[in-house]
Amino acid sequence: MEVNKFGGASIRDSSGVKNLLSILKTKKKEKLFIVVSAMGKTTNNFEKVVQNYFDNQKDLDYSLKFIYDYHYQIINELFENSRHKIFEDLKLIFKAIKDFLMKNKSPNFSFVYDQVVSNGELISSKIIYEYLNENGILINWIDAREIIKTDSKHRGAKVKWDETNQKISEKIDLKMVNITQGFIASDDNNFTTTLGREGSDYSAAIIAYGLNAKSLTIWKDVPGVLNADPKLFENPVLLKDISYGETIELAFYGASVIHPKTLQPLQKKEIPLYVKPFLNPNSQGTKITRGVDINPKVPCYIVKKNLFLLRLSSLDFSFIVEENISEIFKELHQNKIKVDLTQNSAISMYLCIEDKYSKLDNLISKLKAKFKVKCIENIELYTIRHFDKNSIKKILGNYDLILQQRTNEVLKLVIKQA
Ligand code: ASP
Ligand code: MG
Repeated sequence: MEVNKFGGASIRDSSGVKNLLSILKTKKKEKLFIVVSAMGKTTNNFEKVVQNYFDNQKDLDYSLKFIYDYHYQIINELFENSRHKIFEDLKLIFKAIKDFLMKNKSPNFSFVYDQVVSNGELISSKIIYEYLNENGILINWIDAREIIKTDSKHRGAKVKWDETNQKISEKIDLKMVNITQGFIASDDNNFTTTLGREGSDYSAAIIAYGLNAKSLTIWKDVPGVLNADPKLFENPVLLKDISYGETIELAFYGASVIHPKTLQPLQKKEIPLYVKPFLNPNSQGTKITRGVDINPKVPCYIVKKNLFLLRLSSLDFSFIVEENISEIFKELHQNKIKVDLTQNSAISMYLCIEDKYSKLDNLISKLKAKFKVKCIENIELYTIRHFDKNSIKKILGNYDLILQQRTNEVLKLVIKQA
């Protein structure tokens, strides 16, 4: 069994869908499973619909029509026969969304979100199903909500593995291509749940796990896993081989490669993960497996921007040791502030932090009761795995280095943004 997952950017227009077909044509049309995301920016656009439903009703219809028109254009380009049933299907889905919103009494934002936003994947999988069908591919459409079972924690549901594995093997048809939606699932009451933003890769991994698949391939709009973000570094290098462990490390330091959650089920059954460029299907991309050395062995750069550096020092010259440190971390945890690096001396401590939820002022006012607090903003953290002399020079050109930390494998440089 082979699982292939196509992301939203790949299938953002009719030529993307045509390209998906051409990739499938190179494969055997059996023992194949494909998982699709919502097309293009559809998930963001459905999020706007939910926002409008709760606090801006006057724009609700417009925001729905925007998504309808976008998909209408795609099917109009894909299907010559304007009486093809997909046109009616699309209308019915939007009618069902409107009916749901009209009748809904739940004030629970996350519940409503899941019922509405999940339609992005339902629509894309329907369109692709009909298009492949039309082009002579034997294909089985599976509602992901009938195979991936979760708890009821909307917008971040947890998978019930045993039930899920069983349902996957019940619904699959080994003799043809199977298609389902990423990101969406259902709870015990059959209400739709979602697995969290960017959750489609995870869905594909869950399915690969359930099927004991031979491999999972994730088709992306990049050449594979790179050693640096091409938006920040010139000439990034494609990593041809990399281990699960190394990939998880890179993700931990902030690389937006593959989410560790996606790797967990694959790693358990040692299912190799290929990351391949959608527009260049014959290129080899990246292979992620167990225990391989990173190849080529090049430094990997991960950059985090807009961080803060806090310097805490004790008010009374007492040492900063276990007792105060545990208090400091409790405050950080309570304020949902993520710590990327710490360094301490006898009476002071540096913390490089991310303030995603704008809780920094609150944190500082709490800490000021016990410490002298200095805060520097516009901090960048460069993490370099497998660093060498050149890789350090590459970064330190024009910046002020505030502090650095290193182990054999990893160098971290904290610098002030220019
Ligand atoms: N469509 C969802 C999102 O954009 C899930 C995914 O694409 O992975 O977050
Ligand atoms: Mg997406």
